[in-house]
Amino acid sequence: MVYELPLPELTYLLESWGEPAYRAKQIWQGLYQNFWHAPEQFTNLPTSLRDRLGQALRFDAITPSKTLTSSDGKTVKTLFALLDGQAVEAVLMKYDRRRTLCISTQVGCAMGCVFCATGQMGFKRHLSSGEIVAQVMHYARLLAEGGEQVTNVVVMGMGEPFHNYENTMAAIDRLNDPQGYNFGARRFTISTVGLVPLIQRFADEKRQVNLAVSLHAADDALRSSMMPVNRKYPIDDVLAACRDYIEKTGRRVTFEWALVDGVNDTPEQARLLAAKLKGMLCHVNAIPLNPTTGYSGQPTSRQRAEQFKAILEQSGIPCTIRMRRGIEIQAGCGQLAAPALVGRN
Ligand code: SF4
Repeated sequence: MVYELPLPELTYLLESWGEPAYRAKQIWQGLYQNFWHAPEQFTNLPTSLRDRLGQALRFDAITPSKTLTSSDGKTVKTLFALLDGQAVEAVLMKYDRRRTLCISTQVGCAMGCVFCATGQMGFKRHLSSGEIVAQVMHYARLLAEGGEQVTNVVVMGMGEPFHNYENTMAAIDRLNDPQGYNFGARRFTISTVGLVPLIQRFADEKRQVNLAVSLHAADDALRSSMMPVNRKYPIDDVLAACRDYIEKTGRRVTFEWALVDGVNDTPEQARLLAAKLKGMLCHVNAIPLNPTTGYSGQPTSRQRAEQFKAILEQSGIPCTIRMRRGIEIQAGCGQLAAPALVGRN
């Protein structure tokens, strides 16, 4: 697949065909600056090279097969068909001047968070770096047609990005390449359930990418009931890894919290969370739960959400209550669950 290759590998491939290195740069710019997505669009290349390119590399490893737009037109969800019959979803959110993409890194997810539609479908497979890059290129192309561009990418769609660490980081690096798409690392946010060894690795790599960690509960019993991964990586270990990350990088961590009525929106949970986060360079993003068919929990009320926020803020922990968006097209957080296009195993 063409999006799988970093520029040096593409150059190497072209050289092995007896082509000069500048041809690789032309292809690279065509892909990442002009958003061409089929060999025939590369009219600056000789026809023979275009043909060879098309024979050697797939340009269509992800194909948009369905698009849903919310009634206000601000959220667009696309279902992409993959070559093996699986499918993933990605979402474009157009709010204010931001054009934020939420992209997927896996088909399904192994983490099993009980409130999440992706978790409810189980793990199918990792996406390759090219399949991750191609989601961004699809929307970059779409926006470019209207004279717009992607402003932010959140790696919060289907899958746990740190479970697919290598491919996810390779995709970010490719999109970050100054000779290509040149999308700044600081405009990415990667979200994890708290895989401690990978948070440590991420900290050691000192990447400029923003880190978000899903907490959802402030004690182990409740967190384990919502997020089975907590049995392996208990909350205090996750927070210790986050402190280490902040110390090493000087960067703020965002903690995600899906507010479930009567479950984790209580004053006790808020107070416990405030105590655990005391003194940390962090921010809490709380969002009333988005409903999924496989979980009976209900979204918290505005009033309870405000109360939760107030308790955190009284303790000096910044907190934002996020709007629930794209709910009616199942494009909200935790609602992505692309059906496989060829059977399910
Ligand atoms: S919330 Fe994220 S990590 Fe948890 S099951 Fe859903 S996709 Fe996986």
